[in-house]
Amino acid sequence: MKQIADHLHQLSLKGANGFLIDHGSLTLVDTGYGGNSDRILAYIKSIGKKPQDLQHILLTHLHSDHTGSLAELQEKTDAEAIMSAPDAECVLKGQAFRAAVEITPGLLHKLIYRLFVKGAPRTVNPPRIDRILTSQDEKLPIGKGFTVIPVPGHAAGQIALLYHDDGGTLFAADTCGNMAGLALAPFYEDYHQGLTDLHTIANYRFERIVVGHGNPILKAADERFEKRFNKYFEKSKRRNANAYT
Ligand SMILES: [Zn+2]
Repeated sequence: MKQIADHLHQLSLKGANGFLIDHGSLTLVDTGYGGNSDRILAYIKSIGKKPQDLQHILLTHLHSDHTGSLAELQEKTDAEAIMSAPDAECVLKGQAFRAAVEITPGLLHKLIYRLFVKGAPRTVNPPRIDRILTSQDEKLPIGKGFTVIPVPGHAAGQIALLYHDDGGTLFAADTCGNMAGLALAPFYEDYHQGLTDLHTIANYRFERIVVGHGNPILKAADERFEKRFNKYFEKSKRRNANAYT
């Protein structure tokens, strides 16, 4: 739980990182597993704000480590929940995982999947979703404004968010992680789409990147991102080029 930029706090929640943006009122990005609401509200108080200051909750995708505490936060605040249509459709029924996923190639990913993903809750308490984003919603006029970037490889409705603060902050969701260096996510619903998503993100400029799992990068993050992942871009392009052959 710490402030990582002028207006931005990273919350180490059970399950995943959440992020609190302070732009007068507060916006939360992702909630962790169920059982995190008291921790989130205590942090809000610790920075001199009130639970009622939390006005928006953005959910990057359906998984329970990102959406698990949404329903309980909605009992304690009036925040408006915003999520993409394909993933909202699932969590409204309490479904927080799609059955078919591909484990990312490599022994380490297999191990991480077995240790951290396999036993994760597949359901959440069904929340309310106040605003369901469609593919038409490219901008969100909250705080300094967000660009919504569909990145459906890890989950069909996953979105990354580019916040238009000084230099730009990219909320990468689970397109990648940064536990011990930038790395692919341990699993994707569609692995090759996941690589294409990294290529999509690399088209944007951002000073900072924050991820669902791991540490933020606070300087020249777009350059580091591109350097780390560009070896996959050729593969994702090649696959697209061959899509109809
Ligand atoms: Zn995920």
